[in-house]
Amino acid sequence: MSIDNEISKRRTFAIISHPDAGKTTLTEKLLYFGKVIREAGTVKGKKTGKFAASDWMEIEKKRGISVTSSVMSFPYHDFHVNILDTPGHEDFSEDTYRTLTAVDSVVMIIDSTKGVEPQTIKLFKVCRMRGIPIFTFINKLDREGKDPLELLSEIEEVLGIESYPMNWPVGMGKRFLGIIDREQHTVVQFKGNEQEEIIPADEVEGSEIGSHPTYLETLDELELLEEAGNQFDTDRVKRGELTPVFFGSALANFGVKSFFDVFLQYAVPPQPRRTNQGFISPETEEFSGYIFKIQANMNPAHRDRIAFLRVCSGRFERGMSVQLSRTNKTLKLNQTQVFMAKDRETVDEAFAGDIIGIYDPNVYQIGDTLTAGKEGYQYDELPQFPPEMFKKVRVKNVMKAKQFRKGIEQLVQEGAIQYFRQDSTDDIILGAVGQLQYEVFEYRMRAEYNVEIEFVPMGDRIPRWIGNDKFEKRFFDSRSLLVRDRNDQFAVLFENEFTFRHFSENHKEIQLIDLLQENDYQ
Ligand code: GDP
Repeated sequence: MSIDNEISKRRTFAIISHPDAGKTTLTEKLLYFGKVIREAGTVKGKKTGKFAASDWMEIEKKRGISVTSSVMSFPYHDFHVNILDTPGHEDFSEDTYRTLTAVDSVVMIIDSTKGVEPQTIKLFKVCRMRGIPIFTFINKLDREGKDPLELLSEIEEVLGIESYPMNWPVGMGKRFLGIIDREQHTVVQFKGNEQEEIIPADEVEGSEIGSHPTYLETLDELELLEEAGNQFDTDRVKRGELTPVFFGSALANFGVKSFFDVFLQYAVPPQPRRTNQGFISPETEEFSGYIFKIQANMNPAHRDRIAFLRVCSGRFERGMSVQLSRTNKTLKLNQTQVFMAKDRETVDEAFAGDIIGIYDPNVYQIGDTLTAGKEGYQYDELPQFPPEMFKKVRVKNVMKAKQFRKGIEQLVQEGAIQYFRQDSTDDIILGAVGQLQYEVFEYRMRAEYNVEIEFVPMGDRIPRWIGNDKFEKRFFDSRSLLVRDRNDQFAVLFENEFTFRHFSENHKEIQLIDLLQENDYQ
């Protein structure tokens, strides 16, 4: 099969959601369709002894390298599916954001009983900035939830993206009868127990559901949508301006398969990516890719690291020689892994869109570009994501100050955590997106640099970078803390939304940059 064919089959995506919206349950159904697991329900069913190898939550969790679960790949119909895990819960970290730079589209799950939740908003913003297609699955229709029209307007208002419902629910909770498929012109009846019955439009009238008052009410709603709703527009979906919305229930496996099929049809294959020498098309014969995540093994018996590389162009072959653009060094990629959902397997070949794991003898950095050609171009730098929590950090034993500095320098460079210095005191402040980053930092300082550290929490803060020099140091205090980042750029850590607003109103002349708004990383 030609490279072009291989690449056009690739669908590389992440599922984003707030904890408990149903990401695990939905993923499990997709793995089941892909015949990766034998039985849906095995991912979390620890008691059955039938572990799905994809059980990223538990199996390798013990702070080891959970590579098997970081990427799940499988063939499905004419597609080659790559699902990238975006850890949530206590594992939420900058890696979660960075992973979103490596996908071509995104599935956003919304819990119909809760609507748009905070973690979804954060992850959504990163996807939106990249202009990638976003597909919405509104989950848990078998439960009494918010009104579907209300959910749509929440998506439009809170997230600022237009929506187009691909199907429409008939009732919900105990009255949940099924969905009306707007594309196929069918009604899919919900029968519980993973049963669906598809009724063609012209047969609905005489059917059981066709005369149900809830169905008739739904028809009125649908009419409203037809008249006042958005038009479906493939190009706008591809540009991430319009999100197709699907209603269903992951747990009941209702509406999931049809969602997946339609999603794969509209989700895009790998797209050209920007480098310092212009855009590189995925079909370019020469292999190239960049590293978006490095995972250090926390198990002292396996002190290896794995760099996750997104293949951006061409074909990868095991043992091939590549150039690391940052250093112009040539490296041979022998120890590589592809992530099939069942196991880590050695990868012999991979194509643009795939993710491979490369054994890292401590030479790679996040954002590094590898190319097979000699040109040595570099993919755009990965964006810096604004941290939300901050802690001061100190070395417990001052005799270890040197190792402390060295450890911080390396871990910051690796992208494990973000470094700031308080301008007035020179205290070191570490910023993170999730608590896990501090735990990993503390552990690695001890294990790799033999340094005990202590943290002084500063709580959540709102960071804004200062974009001009129209400020004086006396404007700042402990509520609006002036700091410098690792590149010596000034930033302010605001205590809360109120102090931020108050400050910006009093100092309109100072340009305060929200990294999430300013990043342009298409
Ligand atoms: P995650 O945290 O996003 O991975 O969420 P999970 O997939 O673990 O789901 C969280 C909880 O919601 C679990 O108890 C699931 O059984 C439940 N759940 C997931 N999907 C549905 C659904 O469609 N209907 C109902 N009623 N519960 C669901």
